[in-house]
Amino acid sequence: MTPDVRDRTGRPASLERFPEEGCPIPEASWDRALRLIGGHDEIALACHVNPDGDALGSMLAVAFVLRSMGKRVVASFGDRIFAVPRLLGFLPGQEMLVPPDEFPEAPDLMIVFDCSTFERVGLLGANAASAREVIVVDHHPSNTGFGTLDLIDANAAATAMLAEQLVYRLGGRLDRDIATCLYAGLVTDTGSFRYSSTTPAVHHMAARLVATGLRTDEIARELWDRSPFGYLKVLANALERVTLEGGLVWTYVSRVDRAAYGLPYSELEGIIDIVRRADEAEVAVVLKEDDHGDWQVSTRSKGTVDVAAVCAALGGGGHHNAAGYTSYETVEETMAKFRRELRRLS
Ligand code: 5GP
Ligand code: MN
Repeated sequence: MTPDVRDRTGRPASLERFPEEGCPIPEASWDRALRLIGGHDEIALACHVNPDGDALGSMLAVAFVLRSMGKRVVASFGDRIFAVPRLLGFLPGQEMLVPPDEFPEAPDLMIVFDCSTFERVGLLGANAASAREVIVVDHHPSNTGFGTLDLIDANAAATAMLAEQLVYRLGGRLDRDIATCLYAGLVTDTGSFRYSSTTPAVHHMAARLVATGLRTDEIARELWDRSPFGYLKVLANALERVTLEGGLVWTYVSRVDRAAYGLPYSELEGIIDIVRRADEAEVAVVLKEDDHGDWQVSTRSKGTVDVAAVCAALGGGGHHNAAGYTSYETVEETMAKFRRELRRLS
């Protein structure tokens, strides 16, 4: 696979082989994005709070290309406690990250990655609201567009697929750093190429990325096969109280559970994947108490139930089979409301 065979638009010719999966973003929008980027020397990038591999990977990949074009680049995410999740510590380019209080207050041009709603921009929402131009790069079907320019493809398996296009269109080439960032996004959002979003275009993109020589085995180990010992204990607690109610399986992890083992919140991401294994359940829920005492609710469906609709009704969003929201109530109250919305919408 040669990553640098281009057609007229700067895309690799191989992207053209799956026209049925063609990107719905109009050429005029891409053109406008290139003009906006071309017209600014300083560009501020943001991704969603508590970033996952797709959010941070997409943002850093584009940051690398902008930097190679001679742009001044700042990149951040709007968490009150600013820390790159340990799982993502291996991603290159983190020297380009700044905490949200060092982010330009009113950037001329801001690009926002993987945020389905304005709320997902977190603390940097104020900066986005004051920015002259905001380009939204995203793949969430629920995203109705909140930028001055929206590059949204609800059929893309990951924002990284759009970031890859942006890289080529900006005249960038895949090097191992950029490919590592994009691969982290692709592999995260497709559940290691297991979810139904794993189209031929996804595998095709993976081939281009892997061809740069990146170590897929090392990336997989970083993302999924490492945890501090305390994770096993916290997981054991969560599984001890896991509950099956009809087609719903759910559990929770409190701050107190984590504090006993000094386990950071970001280590809890994989628990939903274990809980949703229960064959008897159509829907899985894990309530994770963050360091502020708010409950981050992770939900998964096996297909018949649209958890994005349920979560949207509760103030969040996401995808048909994977969605979430924040609850400021107790575990019992949170679950009571969730059950009510689940019954109403399924
Ligand atoms: P996770 O359970 O892995 O944190 O999130 C699953 C999906 O739900 C992700 O695609 C994410 O974008 C979405 N999601 C999670 N939490 C929220 C939230 O608070 N608001 C919105 N709009 N989407 C969320
Ligand atoms: Mn994503």
